[in-house]
Amino acid sequence: MKTILFNLNDSELEQFVTDLGQPRFRAKQIREWLNRGAPDFSVMKNLPEDLRAKLSEIAETLPLKIVKKLQSSDNQTTKFLLELNDGEQIECVLMRTTYGNSVCVSSQAGCAMGCKFCASTLLGLKRNLTVNEMFAQVLTAQWELRSDRLSDIKPNGDANNGDVSHIVVMGTGEPLQNTENVIGFLERANNELNISWRRITVSTCGIVPGIEELNKWGRPINLAISLHAPTDELRSQIMPINNKYKLREVLDAAFAFSDTHNRQLMIEYILLGKKDKDGSVVAYNANNEHAEKLVELLRGHNVMVNLIPWNSVDERDFASLSGNAVHRFQDILIKNGIHTRIRRERGADIGSACGQLRLKNAKGQK
Ligand code: SAH
Repeated sequence: MKTILFNLNDSELEQFVTDLGQPRFRAKQIREWLNRGAPDFSVMKNLPEDLRAKLSEIAETLPLKIVKKLQSSDNQTTKFLLELNDGEQIECVLMRTTYGNSVCVSSQAGCAMGCKFCASTLLGLKRNLTVNEMFAQVLTAQWELRSDRLSDIKPNGDANNGDVSHIVVMGTGEPLQNTENVIGFLERANNELNISWRRITVSTCGIVPGIEELNKWGRPINLAISLHAPTDELRSQIMPINNKYKLREVLDAAFAFSDTHNRQLMIEYILLGKKDKDGSVVAYNANNEHAEKLVELLRGHNVMVNLIPWNSVDERDFASLSGNAVHRFQDILIKNGIHTRIRRERGADIGSACGQLRLKNAKGQK
């Protein structure tokens, strides 16, 4: 088994290089490369060539490797399929925007939540990710941005300094089933990469004790709740977690979080349709009545509703709604004073929606 140098602390790394008969300062040089996300040893040009060759034989840099890298046609989104040491695969997405560069991080290999519209959960939960495995996803994106600078992809907009500036824990997995490691990861991202709390978002399907734990932790991050339905009856049909934590409980915990930290709460709402017998698409959670019920739930609170067009998943029995239906839904929210926006589909051409790439790879498709 190769040693993963990123998992060693400073004295262990020093020991590792001195055991190879190398001077101690090599450890510092290697650490600098690791902290920049170097994917292998060949790029570490300030190390002697024979040392680089030796290291490649006996060690790895990060606790994950890039299996596949897909670039959207507009070059703004890069999706990585990454392999962990035990062969599990996860996904991570880098989004270059005018306000900065955002990385969507996975918190688990697979997911146990069983949401009926999602690809990530189709193969079940494999395991929680470690702090280092989450941190290494951000470093992988950071390294990619470095390659941008060396090529002709320019940062997108003036407010973008070319580094990772935002983290969203919205990849595969339920972060609040892995709360301790997620917190450890975010502490490090804040500490070592200077990513401010206000530029960090954790998205949950609504695990109430986890939300309370985040509240106790006390950092002013953004919280996003995957709501997707305005009644318990409908929500329980598409999100099994709703049988455990009801809408009211979830929203109360989330409002308490956003009030404590004086942050706007993000509500995620996928607009789902179903195919009728005659093949036409009817709204599943997105007719006028649903919109009005949603208004009732949220009125008077500091929220932003993110309306998400459904990214279609072959295995799932839903349909995407027309732009008109989405706008009609949005209009009702706006008329009632609820802030809302329609999420731009980033990288839809590269299967950027939750778990699609990992699923395809597991099934041996291209
Ligand atoms: N488990 C967490 C975070 C991961 S999912 C959560 O539930 O929030 C990130 C977001 O993508 C969630 O809002 C999820 O419901 C949504 N999502 C899942 N599958 C999707 C799909 N096929 N199209 C659009 N959004 C999807």
